[in-house]
Amino acid sequence: IVLIVNFKTKKQMNKTKCIIAVCSCVLFTFLGNGQIQANDYNKCQTQKSKTMKQFTLPQLPYSADALAPVISKETIDYHYGKHLQTYINNLNKLIAGTEFENADLETIVKKSDGAIFNNAAQTWNHTIYFNTFSPNARQYPEGKLRAAIEKEWGSFDNFKKEFTAAGSAIFGSGWVWLAKTPEGQLVILKESNAGNPLTKGYTPLLGIDVWEHSYYLDYQNRRADHLEALWTIIDWKSNESRF
Ligand code: MN
Repeated sequence: IVLIVNFKTKKQMNKTKCIIAVCSCVLFTFLGNGQIQANDYNKCQTQKSKTMKQFTLPQLPYSADALAPVISKETIDYHYGKHLQTYINNLNKLIAGTEFENADLETIVKKSDGAIFNNAAQTWNHTIYFNTFSPNARQYPEGKLRAAIEKEWGSFDNFKKEFTAAGSAIFGSGWVWLAKTPEGQLVILKESNAGNPLTKGYTPLLGIDVWEHSYYLDYQNRRADHLEALWTIIDWKSNESRF
């Protein structure tokens, strides 16, 4: 705003200069306060992100040595204690300051891609995986899931054969899943890397990790032997609850 004023006297001009000076003072004080308020807001935001939701290692429902000799304590120590912990640490670091900062894990898996997806999906997949096993496993499904498996594959034994073959055939790292489509049909999925049924809108029933880190200390290159041995510790009570 430009003001053009004709001053009648020098005294009047000085008086006007004085009023402008006072107004400027008030204006700068006001802007200054605004700046302080903005800084305080930023401080609050920083504190909020420090206390944002952090994903943590899920509890194992058994002791680290409980699944031996099928899965040794050493494999649990590395697979659960190191690999899964690293996925969770990476996920927490990667989502900080993004739209996923306070999202739940399923939402992140469904909506993210790249490194965030890889670490979120691995966190989600391994949570299902480690909860699938029990040293006192009921080694067969019952009820509706049993009937659905028999309808699809003829018998539970034939399903196990097909599932083991699918897991053995995955090239490189990945996951083999038993999942249910939205139409209620059971399918065996072969997924690479961190792939899972969630991104397809399917319900996961059984998820088995075929990355070498899941079996190499105990079975070296014998992935099929490892998958075969897993049937003795897969507890179908946990899988039926999702059907
Ligand atoms: Mn793994």
